[in-house]
Amino acid sequence: MRILVVEDELNIVEYLKMSLEAEGFHVDTATDGNTGLEMALTNSYDAITLDIMLPGMNGYNVCKHLREAQISTPILMLTAKDGEYDEADAFDIGADDFLRKPFSLVVLVARLRSLLRRGSSSGQGSVLQVADLVLNTSTKTVMRSGQELSLTPREFSLLEYLMHNEGKPLSKTQLLEHVWGLDFAADENIVEVYIGYVRKKVDSPFDQPLIHTVRGMGYKIQDAKG
Ligand code: CA
Repeated sequence: MRILVVEDELNIVEYLKMSLEAEGFHVDTATDGNTGLEMALTNSYDAITLDIMLPGMNGYNVCKHLREAQISTPILMLTAKDGEYDEADAFDIGADDFLRKPFSLVVLVARLRSLLRRGSSSGQGSVLQVADLVLNTSTKTVMRSGQELSLTPREFSLLEYLMHNEGKPLSKTQLLEHVWGLDFAADENIVEVYIGYVRKKVDSPFDQPLIHTVRGMGYKIQDAKG
């Protein structure tokens, strides 16, 4: 497992490199945004930890550039200050998870492993289908009525989890845990916001809504005719 650590505080870089290597990861490091982006574009990593405040290009722009370049390596963003940036923005630009400094190594490793598991299970590739909606976890594509839909990584994960549980209502807490990760500072409003985004892309342009609100429960995806 090869990890790229992009971080400008040298003591944190050293600490992460040593600790992650002790956990059995191969670790490359970059101490500014441009170098980090260059390395992520030219090498293949299983996951990236990305600081936000970096010399040169900041972590947000590194993440954005990588996603624009169709690089889907899981990204764990690290930030120093609570509330400095809107976490929803980070997810919008394609980060997979978010961790605030100071973080415990145990939590960091757990979150990384969770990202790696998600990455490798989707690597096996499977096709989920509900009515005329088809999601391919290998190619990360979503089609409805033969038309390709463009989803952000977070929207994709949310839809993927709903489709895995077709017909079964999922609570906001369940969605938060599975799509955003257990330790994500739990504001369930973000689930509503993202359900809205996904509906706009997956349901609004089509006749038959598939994502349903289950009163007092949460959400489910179901073919109404099924
Ligand atoms: Ca920094």
